[in-house]
Amino acid sequence: MQGKKTHQESLFIQFQLSNYVPADNFYRRLKNLLDLDFLYQTTLKYYGKEGQKSIDPVVFMKLMLVGYLENINSDRRIMTSSGMRMDILYFLGYDLGEELPWHSTLSRTRKLYGEETFLNLFKQVLKLCIEKGLICGKRQAVDSALIPANASKHSMVERIVMEDASVFSQELNENIEEEPPTPEEDNKGGQNKKDKAAPTNQTHYSPSDPDARLTTKPGKPMRLYYRAQMSVDTASHFITYIQAFKGNEADNTSLPVMLPQITDNMAGHINPVKEILADTGYSSGKAIRSLIANDIEGYIPNPGNYKSSREDEGFTYDTENDRYTCLMGVQLPFRRIESAYDEPTVLKKIYESNISDCKNCPFKEICANKKGFKKLVDSMDKPLYEYMKQRVESPKGKQMKALRSSTVEPVFGSLINYTSLKRINTKGLKQANKCMLVAAVAYNLKKLLAYKPKTLKAVAILPINDLKGLLIRLFLRSNQQYLINLIPSF
Ligand code: SF4
Repeated sequence: MQGKKTHQESLFIQFQLSNYVPADNFYRRLKNLLDLDFLYQTTLKYYGKEGQKSIDPVVFMKLMLVGYLENINSDRRIMTSSGMRMDILYFLGYDLGEELPWHSTLSRTRKLYGEETFLNLFKQVLKLCIEKGLICGKRQAVDSALIPANASKHSMVERIVMEDASVFSQELNENIEEEPPTPEEDNKGGQNKKDKAAPTNQTHYSPSDPDARLTTKPGKPMRLYYRAQMSVDTASHFITYIQAFKGNEADNTSLPVMLPQITDNMAGHINPVKEILADTGYSSGKAIRSLIANDIEGYIPNPGNYKSSREDEGFTYDTENDRYTCLMGVQLPFRRIESAYDEPTVLKKIYESNISDCKNCPFKEICANKKGFKKLVDSMDKPLYEYMKQRVESPKGKQMKALRSSTVEPVFGSLINYTSLKRINTKGLKQANKCMLVAAVAYNLKKLLAYKPKTLKAVAILPINDLKGLLIRLFLRSNQQYLINLIPSF
């Protein structure tokens, strides 16, 4: 007989949310794992003793996490999505029909809490991963990625001193709700403003986000960015450090800032950080010195323009007398130290021949400069670059190069595509840093909850006869003595 479903809505039902969220649900497991009660104490300083009650700090942080776990880059959508999901409501500690906080509370509270609150959360979750023995600790791979800022390069204005503060204030208000440009707008924007000089970070800034910087790299359009610097444990691929920098800040100047924080994040680990793997962008004398100062061994290829030897140019170096000799036997002694044109702290050693020595040389036209002598420039940090060259070109160094790219690059890919870091949805460097920290926490939590000790589980569900068989097979394969003692006991 054909059935037909009739629906008569019940006026009263008995409902308990926990009965409808399965035990293996991600958010149920996360609720059991994550204890955020420390936030009540650490955020107490941001509130007064009287007035309207704020959002619960734990609820705020859980909502932030939901945004990154669900790859949602809008506070408004976090609220609407959370209200429709029983598992998320259970995670937040809300019931069906109970009103969630208003979406603007999220951005207000995110601005209110200092960066240390978010860093503290990152460290707490990292500690959980360390305690479960999932992080090796010894070797970290570092890399950076440009994350688009929430500002358009077409809104950039010239850096001039504003005589009238009200004009500046009005300009800020006009830009505050600005939507990020689409790729099409990005491309055609330049055509509409052909008559204007192209903006640069030296001459222009974005009034809506003064910390965002104009930059580019191969495969990326020129626009306003922040730079995410990250370190990843090479054994487990957990994120052990993340921080926002200005988009135009070079990797090699960021490394000395990163190293103490990486070490601090891993302070609770039995294995202190001993090795750092990075690409050539992180290479500089200052970066190598900071590695040595932190007692860390680095594997960082030297810059492409670094010259270890000048023998291919016909100049041999005399270490004892600190001078070069050309193929005509003319000496180029060390003359002086100069600072780099674009970076005064980078020092260079200058070697020069005498004009009289080069005067009658047949190679003068192709070798000497317009003034009639040869000038060679070496970095003051050449001994450090040579030390790094030896390490990178060793068999272990070659392994480390492959390991670095296979470790940190996929993690960045996941973070950007699946943890809501395609674009920073806030303004300012501090806010960008908070977003990156929570995104990294969400990534680590996903990995932590996905972890299953496979070997132990496989043994635990085997019936006793199968376990005997498994042990015999293991014995036959490995022929290890300790299995002989185990088998007779069954
Ligand atoms: S130009 Fe001067 S430095 Fe160059 S090869 Fe001739 S002698 Fe040597």
